[in-house]
Amino acid sequence: MEKDAPILIIGAGTFGLSTAYHFAQAGHSNITVLEKSTAVPPADSAGNDLNKIIRAEYEDPFYAELALQAMAAWKTNPLLAPYYHETGYLLANSAAAPDKAKKTLLKSLGSIQQHPAFRGKISPIERREDITKVAPVFDGPMEWKGYFNRFAGYAQSADALTAMYSACCALGVKFRTGDAVKSLIYTLDKDSSRRCTGAVTESGKTYTAVLIVLTLGAALATVLPEVGRQVAANAWSVAHIQLTPAEAEKLRGIPVTYARDLGFFFEPDRRTNLLKLCPSGAGYTNFCSSSEGGPSVPPDFNAFITPADEDKIRRLLRETLPGLAERPLINKHLCWCADTADSEYIIDFVPETSNNSLIVASGDSGHAFKMLPIVGQWSVELARAGKQETKRWRWKAGQDAGGDVSWRIGRPVDLRDVPLAVRSNM
Ligand SMILES: Cc1cc2nc3c(=O)[nH]c(=O)nc-3n(C[C@H](O)[C@H](O)[C@H](O)COP(=O)(O)OP(=O)(O)OC[C@H]3O[C@@H](n4cnc5c(N)ncnc54)[C@H](O)[C@@H]3O)c2cc1C
Repeated sequence: MEKDAPILIIGAGTFGLSTAYHFAQAGHSNITVLEKSTAVPPADSAGNDLNKIIRAEYEDPFYAELALQAMAAWKTNPLLAPYYHETGYLLANSAAAPDKAKKTLLKSLGSIQQHPAFRGKISPIERREDITKVAPVFDGPMEWKGYFNRFAGYAQSADALTAMYSACCALGVKFRTGDAVKSLIYTLDKDSSRRCTGAVTESGKTYTAVLIVLTLGAALATVLPEVGRQVAANAWSVAHIQLTPAEAEKLRGIPVTYARDLGFFFEPDRRTNLLKLCPSGAGYTNFCSSSEGGPSVPPDFNAFITPADEDKIRRLLRETLPGLAERPLINKHLCWCADTADSEYIIDFVPETSNNSLIVASGDSGHAFKMLPIVGQWSVELARAGKQETKRWRWKAGQDAGGDVSWRIGRPVDLRDVPLAVRSNM
């Protein structure tokens, strides 16, 4: 591809910003990013959040290695390093955890235990004193079992996206926000093959390009219906507690703390003193807003969490910081990801689209923010190679997402089973 050939990236979230950045870094000079939200980081990006866990333990060593690559970049890339905090990661199960939670924790530990990068960085959590050693401020009962990993932490995610956006602007990437893409444009070539040549937005604007990269996260099926059910929008709850400056100061430097059966929280945000909390579980799908057999796509209204998730958050606090357990939860919302059946990403050309004109970079499956520094490079490599050699990232025709996921506890609940009064926050 000529370096001045037009490239269109649709969606300015985690994958989209990284993709724009890496194409620009590779010398491409004619890149436009289309985003439906009015600003970047976009309100609807799953990455636009106070913080995200950065860790390399995975059931699958393939992703553990990628996460290590990404972590090296988090630490050394001056663009992102200010937003990475290696506070450590306390991963455990509460006394009431089901067997599945215990098994997945052991698999995660197995992926890093023998790895040289983690030598001397892992300590077992077997009794209460082990927790006191790594997080003395926790004063709940915490009969937890698991481990503490010093080589992990969190990123200030919205700030990191902002930094990447600024770097893209400085490299000449153009952003067009506040206008959702409605559909893609295809032309028939002489040999009757279908080539993607651009996109049309809700306001009727047309953008043309020789390469179009879809980084639409959970909303992929709304622009590319042929993806079908290989990607399912899946959401998790997020809530916050407003701490006073003194309370926040007391919790400064705590590790990312994750009871696999209850949920997780982070060091309070350094600017706002908000404590972000996420309940664990298999999350929510939204198949009900599609026609029968259609995909799960994000709904328009997301400013709520379910009573079951609120209860889980309060149980997590009773275990760890009981003094906060009854505090009001604020900024409650669902955050939508693009799940695949096996949690593998999709970084591939769309089949039956000629000239390698259309790439999908999606299927984050709820574990891709940590890849922000490197995820965009994978589309650059694909465009160069002309074929996806990494089999696990190929288009997944025939695989239906939205069911049981090996590393999550429980099965997703479809929003049709959540009372309307909860879903509409009445
Ligand atoms: C609660 C929660 C906690 C998480 N925690 C972690 C964690 O600790 N660590 C970790 O690594 N990952 C975590 N993740 C996952 C991570 O956030 C995602 O994997 C990642 O952000 C996905 O990036 P994406 O670019 O595919 O999607 P997004 O970042 O969601 O980007 C998609 C973009 O497409 C835009 N868009 C949608 N439709 C259109 C349209 N029609 N036209 C134009 N633009 C459009 C959206 O507005 C959005 O900006 C978490 C996710 C959730 C929900």
